[in-house]
Amino acid sequence: MNPKDFADSVFGKEDEKKGTCIHCGKETYEKWLEDGVCEECLEKGLPGRLSLSKDKKIMNIMLVAMVLLLIVFLFFVMTIFVFSEVIRLV
Ligand SMILES: [Zn+2]
Repeated sequence: MNPKDFADSVFGKEDEKKGTCIHCGKETYEKWLEDGVCEECLEKGLPGRLSLSKDKKIMNIMLVAMVLLLIVFLFFVMTIFVFSEVIRLV
């Protein structure tokens, strides 16, 4: 057994790094984690890290859309208010 193999068997190989599941926190080899999720949680249909960040992106887009809608709505209300004032004056 050469020193490198010995080091690998003691400390684990580079591709056998340990990682934790983002849902249940179970510690397992990173190669068993798919997108940060362990096998058990994958079976439960829980989303991975990538789809979670995708969800976050969608939430951000929704938030921006909501704010824009609010601005448009306020502008609409203001326009109606100004028009009703103008009509009352005429
Ligand atoms: Zn898990």
